[in-house]
Amino acid sequence: MHSSDYELIINEIDFKMLIEHAKRNYPFEACALLFGKIKGNTYRVNKVLLAENILNSSVSFKIDENFLLNAYENAEKEGLDLVAIFHSHPALPYPSSLDKKFMALNPVPWVILSMPSLDFKAHIFKNNSFIEVHIVREEI
Ligand SMILES: [Zn+2]
Repeated sequence: MHSSDYELIINEIDFKMLIEHAKRNYPFEACALLFGKIKGNTYRVNKVLLAENILNSSVSFKIDENFLLNAYENAEKEGLDLVAIFHSHPALPYPSSLDKKFMALNPVPWVILSMPSLDFKAHIFKNNSFIEVHIVREEI
């Protein structure tokens, strides 16, 4: 993995919402869908949709399929794209081998928040490799 020009912009209120979501779910993994706009290599988050990890697991997560369908339908109506997938790890903020499999299928930035340290990283699968995405936390 190497750093890049890929950038994920999220406002501080949304980022804190993700942290609180991860804290509530700890020691299980928490997950969320981040919708917004993609321009070139810049992914801007406009809407955070917290989701339930239906696996109640500390090593993996899964979102209910009907929840996903509804989320995509609503985003389409609002003119938003899926710009990132968020989940927490009660471990280091690096993608697991299972994460990597799904990252290849969903080539948007994957944000991982490490619990309880609150370290975080984002990576994207592009050109057959996992590239680090710079996270910009914007004050409102
Ligand atoms: Zn993971």
